[in-house]
Amino acid sequence: MRLKDKVAIVTGGSRGIGRGIVLALAAEGAKVGVVYRGSQAAAEELIAAVGAAGGTAKAYQCDVVDYAAVEACVKKVEEELGPIDILVNNAGVIKDDLFIRMEPADWNIVLQTNLGGTYNFCKAVAFPMVRKRSGRIINVSSVAATFVNPGQTNYAASKGAINSFTRALAVEIAGRGITVNAIAPGFIETDMSAVVRNKAGDMIKKMIPMKRIGTPEDIAKVAVFLASDESSYITGQVITVDGGLSLGAIGAG
Ligand code: NAP
Repeated sequence: MRLKDKVAIVTGGSRGIGRGIVLALAAEGAKVGVVYRGSQAAAEELIAAVGAAGGTAKAYQCDVVDYAAVEACVKKVEEELGPIDILVNNAGVIKDDLFIRMEPADWNIVLQTNLGGTYNFCKAVAFPMVRKRSGRIINVSSVAATFVNPGQTNYAASKGAINSFTRALAVEIAGRGITVNAIAPGFIETDMSAVVRNKAGDMIKKMIPMKRIGTPEDIAKVAVFLASDESSYITGQVITVDGGLSLGAIGAG
């Protein structure tokens, strides 16, 4: 087991990619705090699944947008599971619309959740990690930061900022034994991508040389690697996990 007795927090752990990361970290021996906002039943089902497989996970309701709630959540995880070794900032939302129609509220909630939530949890764990001179921070970005889609100015801005934030924080705390990296998933089979997959699934597969949509497990394997000792000399990186996504693949057959 590569993460035996490490303590991890996974935000947005109740569903989708976060759920896959929780299962993979727990299977490697980590004790996982599963942060969710509204999906209590899904979070409880996941905790039971981890327990049935012989692992340890606990659910924590917390809105990543609310810094006071985040601080209280981190404190509770520390009390119940122990000092945080691994933080996975995965919680995210989309509110797509063409820019000229996009309401300020839809701009704000995407930036506040995706970027602000990442800041909030990093802020709450950074000092304790610096004090114990070890830690792993993994931010879930997106290929949408660079492979941009119409209707996603808010989302692309949030994920591009996460990439820059990841690099900037990494250089500040590398000397304290903490690595900070990001994973940029391509199209992954979750609730978030359902609308676009239903509308343009065949076209998307044509853009993926591996000819399949990714799974939460594809992302979770990379998260385990970045959380483990095997990645100890890697920091400030954005690792793309997208099956080779490329517009050029459309003509490649
Ligand atoms: P998802 O299936 O929609 O799940 C989103 C998760 O985020 C849920 O667990 C949700 O919790 C949580 N969440 C949302 N807002 C929150 C808040 N304010 N506070 C706490 N938790 C909150 O999404 P997903 O596809 O797994 O996406 C996970 C991450 O991967 C996101 O950062 C997303 O941008 C990124 N990503 C996804 C894809 C893709 O194709 N799916 C591609 C690239 C990047 P509740 O259900 O409890 O509210």
